[in-house]
Amino acid sequence: MSDISLLPSVTAFLARDHGLYIHGETVASQSATRIAVVNPANGETLAQVADASQVDVERAVASSREGFQAWSRTSPAARASVLLRLADLLEANREELAQLETLQSGKLIGIARAFEVEQAAHFLRYYAGWATKITGQTITPSLPSFAGERYSAYTLREPIGVVVGIVPWNFATMIAIWKLASALTTGCSIILKPSEFTPLTLLRIAELASEAGLPAGALNVLTGAGTVGKALVEHPGTDKVSFTGSVPTGIAVGQTAMGAKLTRATLELGGKNAVAFLPDVPLDKAVEGVIEAGFLHSGQICAAGERFYVHRTRIEPLLEALSERLGQLKIGSPLDESTQFGPVANKPHQRKLGELFATARAEGSQIIHGGRIGDGPGCFVDPTVILARSPNDTLLNQETFGPVATFLPYDTEDELLHLMNATPYGLSASLWTNDLAKAMRLIPEIQAGTLWVNMHTLLDPAVPFGGIKASGIGREFGSAFIDEFTELKSVMIRY
Ligand code: NAD
Repeated sequence: MSDISLLPSVTAFLARDHGLYIHGETVASQSATRIAVVNPANGETLAQVADASQVDVERAVASSREGFQAWSRTSPAARASVLLRLADLLEANREELAQLETLQSGKLIGIARAFEVEQAAHFLRYYAGWATKITGQTITPSLPSFAGERYSAYTLREPIGVVVGIVPWNFATMIAIWKLASALTTGCSIILKPSEFTPLTLLRIAELASEAGLPAGALNVLTGAGTVGKALVEHPGTDKVSFTGSVPTGIAVGQTAMGAKLTRATLELGGKNAVAFLPDVPLDKAVEGVIEAGFLHSGQICAAGERFYVHRTRIEPLLEALSERLGQLKIGSPLDESTQFGPVANKPHQRKLGELFATARAEGSQIIHGGRIGDGPGCFVDPTVILARSPNDTLLNQETFGPVATFLPYDTEDELLHLMNATPYGLSASLWTNDLAKAMRLIPEIQAGTLWVNMHTLLDPAVPFGGIKASGIGREFGSAFIDEFTELKSVMIRY
């Protein structure tokens, strides 16, 4: 097989002189600084985008304040209709968006089509449904009447205002859609700041949002480095930040937000997610479980499994079968539909993984499979399996965010629980067993925002998602996101 042909609309989009998306149109940035967007599969520069300036930030915030006034007064049904039309437009432009996403991130074209576009459309429709269902409560006040007067009270859920959505590079389209949909369905306006590595799809989606009927200023897109995100968070004209990214950046964003004027912050951060196999899991199911948890999208998923705990009696055959399975993967171009394993998303990330492999070797961890990075222009990294010596090994403690599964054997369930929970993080975990009673006893003991049983990584818009401990603050999806994007107003009436 060979690479699919790029659509003419994709090559035409790449050739554009890219600007920012402010107040319903593409505008030139006031900044002379440009950032190259590089294809991680071959190292070629795809396009240049603006590193937005403070003047651009001011324009975007002014537009978003105006956009908020209009959008927050739009009826819930009208808001839902716009989001539903945008979902249709995502699907109508599926191939163009998927190709752009694969070019900028190195993600397999099949994953770009299925997750970045189709799943994003599914999430949008789910969120659109909430626009017409956001309600407060009626409350009977508790204190007695003093002189025969009566009281009644109710609560309102009001949109929080101008949201800043800061997006990482791993799912540049889908994560941006989660933020955009959460803000717009609750009546907020939003300024999206994509990752400097993957800004292209969002510039295109902003155009589609206008085509879907979104009024000017309800959505603005500013490209640029982290400094643009910081300027937006500390701006007095923004009210909330919804951030997805690494733990250190998330902590910095949270500090900026609190220091600005208690700007509300939802932080969806990384982790070091544990995967536990009890001894009853058949070998073939365990191998597929490791692939699902650790190697989907080359492990560049915040919820991916990174620490794998296997009963001592089962670990050797599992490592052997896993190595054999990984050795069969077809590694190559992400635009080739037969490729099963592509590059990681950028050079700094590839280099970081190379350094982690060197650390693992220096510490005496055993590299069972892979453990090398490519030396060509593309950002290729071997799918890698490591057997740690002790729970203190770096690879069992530091997030790799790559195609690296690190294993440690355990002997008892108490030891397993201790190992799983001995981490500052708590985004996700999975437990693999056919023993229902054991699973039900272990579930309450495992510290994670999301715990999967006999599965890993599948996110559903109806199921709340977010981290505990140092993996974040707040929840996305379900009805939980409503608390994050609205303020609760209490109204009390005497009569
Ligand atoms: P990152 O933290 O380096 O960057 C994320 C975004 O923050 C980028 O847009 C960047 O430009 C911006 N940024 C950088 N400094 C900033 C600052 N001081 N103020 C405001 N914005 C700033 O993360 P990344 O490398 O793009 O993504 C990988 C990380 O994201 C991993 O740690 C992964 O676990 C995490 N992640 C978490 C989730 C989740 O839902 N919990 C989902 C995806 C990725």
